[in-house]
Amino acid sequence: IPYRHKEVVRDDVFWGHNRRRILDRLRLDGKVAYVTGGGQGIGRAFAHALGEAGAKVAVVDLVLAKAEAVVCELSLKGIKSLALAVDVSKPKDVQRMVDAIVARWGTVHIACNNAGINLNSASEETSLEEWDKTFNVNLRGLFLCCQAAGRIMLNQGYGKIINTASMASLIVPHPQKQLAYNVSKAGVVKLTQTLGTEWVDRGVKVNCISPGIVDTPLIRSKELQPLVQRWMGDIPAGRLAQPTDLQAAVVYLASEASDYMTGHNLVIEGGQSLW
Ligand code: NAD
Repeated sequence: IPYRHKEVVRDDVFWGHNRRRILDRLRLDGKVAYVTGGGQGIGRAFAHALGEAGAKVAVVDLVLAKAEAVVCELSLKGIKSLALAVDVSKPKDVQRMVDAIVARWGTVHIACNNAGINLNSASEETSLEEWDKTFNVNLRGLFLCCQAAGRIMLNQGYGKIINTASMASLIVPHPQKQLAYNVSKAGVVKLTQTLGTEWVDRGVKVNCISPGIVDTPLIRSKELQPLVQRWMGDIPAGRLAQPTDLQAAVVYLASEASDYMTGHNLVIEGGQSLW
């Protein structure tokens, strides 16, 4: 190094407290994670991503067989994992989930609250039952998970919570019939902002990811197909997202590389919300 550059190289202020290389800071070795709705679609991709980055992963789903199938896939990659049947809208189930993870691996470092449903009905026809069902999973369930995992994280002074919101929290793709869904996802963003700022000084970072339209079983219903075809024309990227398009985001938000980020909403939608 030429002498005149030595001062630059020694600049501690520039490097801050963390001198580890960026790809090392994205690693999750030794971390314990869970993913709700991990049995298929986006949650399945999240479980693989967190596991590939080094974390042990509890795959949590309403349907045990789906969670077990993902655990099989992870095992083939040498990833330590655990399948749990949980309905996130039920407080006892959520507590059982956290207790089971702590019993197996001692703690929880990364909480991926991803389970969500979309019942799709015209606003004037949305029944109270549909409204409640949507909110019970998408918002109440997510709150219960944040609270149960958050208590452990606050106790240990470290945690990363990643909630799955949606582009529908920001815009209303037209013509779309999902009032309860849109409002519940807007709630996820506000919940994330609130917890993200309330808990940050105790070491717990809370962020959310807002995917655009992702090719998963959620959008493959017959009724949605005409809408999906229409939306395709609104995506500047020219295609639907694949679950794998979201994997780097969840690893980033779960890792120390994102330590200065909290309360925010990472939007991944091929530019659709800007159109
Ligand atoms: P999906 O329907 O393919 O998978 C959801 C999984 O969650 C299923 O395995 C299901 O069994 C499970 N689940 C449902 N209710 C549950 C409950 N009460 N408790 C535990 N698990 C439950 O959905 P996806 O497309 O992978 O979506 C995952 C998340 O991403 C959801 O929150 C969804 O709203 C959000 N999202 C999806 C899209 C999209 O286009 N697919 C876009 C934006 C946001």
